[in-house]
Amino acid sequence: MLPQDSMETFDLAVIGAGPGGCAAAIRAAQLGRRVACVDREASLGGTCLRIGCIPSKALLESSRHFAFARHSLGKHGVVVGSVDLDLDAMMKRKNQVVSRLSQGVELLFRKNKIASFNGAARLTSPRSIAVNGTKAHCQLNAENILIATGSLPVALPGVPFDGERILSSTDALALSSVPEHLAVVGAGYIGLELGSVWSRLGAQVTVMESRNQILPGMDGDLSNEAQKLLARQGLQFQLGAQVRKIAFLDGRVSVHLNAGQSIIADKVLVAVGRVPNTAALGLAELGVALDEQGAVQVDEAFATNVLGIFAIGDVVGGPMLAHKAEEEGIAFAESLVRGGKANVHYGAIPSAVFTEPEIAAIGRTERQLIETGVSFRKAAFPYRANGRARAANQTNGFVKLLIAEDAEKILGAHILGDRAGEMINEVALAINMEKSAFDLARSCHAHPTFGETLREAARQACGLGIHN
Ligand code: FAD
Repeated sequence: MLPQDSMETFDLAVIGAGPGGCAAAIRAAQLGRRVACVDREASLGGTCLRIGCIPSKALLESSRHFAFARHSLGKHGVVVGSVDLDLDAMMKRKNQVVSRLSQGVELLFRKNKIASFNGAARLTSPRSIAVNGTKAHCQLNAENILIATGSLPVALPGVPFDGERILSSTDALALSSVPEHLAVVGAGYIGLELGSVWSRLGAQVTVMESRNQILPGMDGDLSNEAQKLLARQGLQFQLGAQVRKIAFLDGRVSVHLNAGQSIIADKVLVAVGRVPNTAALGLAELGVALDEQGAVQVDEAFATNVLGIFAIGDVVGGPMLAHKAEEEGIAFAESLVRGGKANVHYGAIPSAVFTEPEIAAIGRTERQLIETGVSFRKAAFPYRANGRARAANQTNGFVKLLIAEDAEKILGAHILGDRAGEMINEVALAINMEKSAFDLARSCHAHPTFGETLREAARQACGLGIHN
């Protein structure tokens, strides 16, 4: 690491050490560029590692074990005594997972000789950044600057996050006790994942969603079935529910909905979306253009309208996902160093929700295909007909595959079921390599595995089904 007052000129200065910024910094350094990376947080890894993907998955895993030990171990003939919660230990484990991974990123930075600066960055010109650190202030000069500052959670109008009653996702990852009743505003993946964690640990959880399906934007069959399965686990849903007002009474919170209904809860998790984080970066002064959503506008090579300034990840809009940010970071670094177009296949970016069971998707939904007049064939194969799923007692869910009429193209895959988040990667590979549904159908899968459901759905879609 360089001293905080370094005046060295870098080939590339990256603002933000999230999955996008880190991937860009490392790839550019591997390709021989002198790289600096600034983050206002002391530990590396960004939202994903510190307060997003990783801590949420650590808590999902721990709470899953807790619920499994309480409700499902007996079905396997395993008898245990009372199953108790040590929330402190659970949170400590989560924090250890985060700090180990963050140290891993530090190691990669050192290995690749990336100069790491801790402080809030502000662009002072298209070639310079002022870093306002807790220990020191400095200026960095660079030929190119990459904005990878991610996104921030949106609060409800007039109801700021207070960390006590009105929680952001960050707050909901670090509660010191299980709330009696947690109201969750927003049935997107963050609301459902964190709602699941606290429901499994004993909270009553009510999820409110203004649209008429959970996981808006996902395939309707998947959302409807997922809602049923989550409801069976104890989550309550209010769909078509608009929050009109929030009132505080005797230490509790009353959430008033349209239709005159109100829900009294101990805490309210607001998970209604995230916005690109461009605040205090000095972009307006330099004339860097933003779109109507406040995202930094970029071209195919992630260049903004100001020469030498680039942007990637959540701050440029599109799906706000860690792997999308990472893809863009790598593609940006390679096109910067080698020239040519940045290569991101946006049609092959999967998404996954780590509820029980998992939900994962790639490509287009059935509704999108109908609305755009694309003719297609579809097939669905249930988990209950899969040997491994039966053996594991994980029979809920299905694989739904949408393919072109001639089976040459996979248009969409939508999976609800155990390990869906792993299985979707196989479809991502197939789409990325422009493989057909026949290729998927004819590719031998190990038995007994959950992945056989995918192959069977492909066989059925191609008219080659064996198990139907
Ligand atoms: P970020 O990871 O947000 O990193 C931006 C960095 O920039 C931060 O470290 C920030 O401190 C720094 N920064 C901002 N402004 C400045 C400044 N002025 N000066 C210096 N530094 C600055 N995605 C998935 O793909 N899978 C998941 O399972 C998943 N789960 C999630 C769970 C939760 C609870 C949340 C909140 C998000 C989750 N996400 C998930 C989304 C994922 O975290 C983001 O899409 C991803 O982190 C975006 O990466 P990024 O590199 O664009 O920005």
